[in-house]
Order: sequence, then C-alpha cells, then structure tokens
Amino acid sequence: MTPPCAADIANSVADVRRRMDAAALRTGRDPASVRLLPVTKTIPVERLRLAFAAGVARFGENKVQEAREKSEALADLPVTWSVIGHLQTNKAKYVARLADEFQALDSVRVAAALDAALQKQGRALDVFIQVNTSGEASKFGLQPEQMMPFLRELPAFQSLHARGLMTLAVFSADAARVRRCFRLLHELRARHRDGLASGGLDELSMGMSGDYEIAIEEGATIVRVGQAIFGPRSTPDSIYWPEGSPDQLMGAQHDKVGPTTGLPPQALQ
Ligand SMILES: *Cc1c(COP(=O)(O)O)cnc(C)c1O
Repeated sequence: MTPPCAADIANSVADVRRRMDAAALRTGRDPASVRLLPVTKTIPVERLRLAFAAGVARFGENKVQEAREKSEALADLPVTWSVIGHLQTNKAKYVARLADEFQALDSVRVAAALDAALQKQGRALDVFIQVNTSGEASKFGLQPEQMMPFLRELPAFQSLHARGLMTLAVFSADAARVRRCFRLLHELRARHRDGLASGGLDELSMGMSGDYEIAIEEGATIVRVGQAIFGPRSTPDSIYWPEGSPDQLMGAQHDKVGPTTGLPPQALQ
C-alpha cells in the first residue's frame, strides 16, 4: 500500500466539504456560513504536515498535552489551534499560550483560570460555552439550566470573548435523538443571545464525523470532523469522554461513522 499523501487528505476534505455544502443548501442556508474544523487528535504530526500541504491550516485537538506537543513540533508552520476538549484549571496557561480558540468552556472556575492566564500573556481568546444537550452523565458541559447564571458571570472575564455554544450530541444511530440535541443547542442560543451584553454567541459548534450533516441542517456554523477526514481512530473515544460506558460510546458511534465517511478504506489509514 502506498503511504498516505497530501492529495488523499485533500480529497477527504473536499468530500466532507461537498456533503457540508449539500446539507446547507438542503435547508436553504449559505454553505459559506459553515466552517469545517478538522480534528487531528491521535493523528501524528507527519500527517498534520501533509494536511497543511493539503490546505488545512487550523487543527482541532481535544487534549491540551497533545496540542502542546504538536504545536511545538509544527512551530515552523503558520497554523492555528482550536482546543475542543475539557480543560483542567492547572492547564489553563498552556491553552492561553497556544490556542487560537477554546471550545469547551464549562465552568466559572475554568473561565477564571483561563482569564487570569490570558491577562498574564496580554491576550484575549475566543471561547465557546459547552452545553450538555444529551443529558448523559458522560458528557462534559453546562446543563441548559446552568447557562443563565454562567452567562451573568462571564463578562467579568474580560479576556474571554464568547463566540458561541458547543455541544456533542448523543452517540446514537437514531438520527431523531441526535437531531434533538442539535435543535436544543440552537434553541438555547436563541434564548440566551440577549443575555450577553457583548452580543456574542453567534456560533453553533456542533456535529462530528457521524452527524455533521444533521448538525448543519439544524444550524451548525462550525462542524468538528476528524475520522471522516483522517480515518478511524484506534484509540477508544472513552478516553476523551471519561465516565462513559464503553459500549455506549463505541458501538453506536461506529455505526454512525461508516455511512457518512463514504471513503474507500485505503483513503482512511
Ligand atoms: C474527536 C472530537 C471530534 C471529532 O470526532 P470525529 O468522530 O473524529 O469526527 C469532535 N469534537 C470533539 C470535542 C472531539 O473530541
């Protein structure tokens, strides 16, 4: 088998982009209003270099340690980093240093730690508030009813620029259940938009490899897509969403990834 090359990645990105555009057009949306964030967790830096050669200049990483290592290894490239996973306060300084965007803000404690670290560096950061729309204990994020009090505190953290909401839908082959999660995030934005004096919350970051088309139909402005571009991960996703029962996290998701990737196996790994 020939090793993967930049053209393979470019093809996969183009394929995802086509499906994104079609989903947007189906619901009367402008395809240009939806951004693709390629997610590169577990993908080695050599392949990130290929992705860059294929035109990918922003990488989404779930874990801070992995983002640190990769951003150092790729310091010679003009790329930006979106941190999309739960943050522990003791790692806030690294996100403040390396990230261009943080999509998993889920507590006042993290907001305070991140704001303090950003002040020290004299910079601001775009953030997304993660909301648990599935009701699953295994998912991080604020409960919908916690949003109002959280939004009241947020303006105190002046280095954080709230850009929108982020969620992970339930991992289920039942599209109706998945859709309900996305619809809820959309409704929550409508309900809380005026709550922020700065007028943030324009963006809805929702949808992954298995469900990004549904997310776009429900109003996503950013989809976070890994496996449909870079191939299936061998690492179980339960390490990214701890506490979840492995069968719930793996089984259903694998059902979902296949049909939407539409990639031949050789393009996947
Ligand atoms: C890994 C990850 C994704 C992308 O998942 P894929 O199945 O690879 O598309 C999206 N969002 C978050 C928070 C992730 O950790």
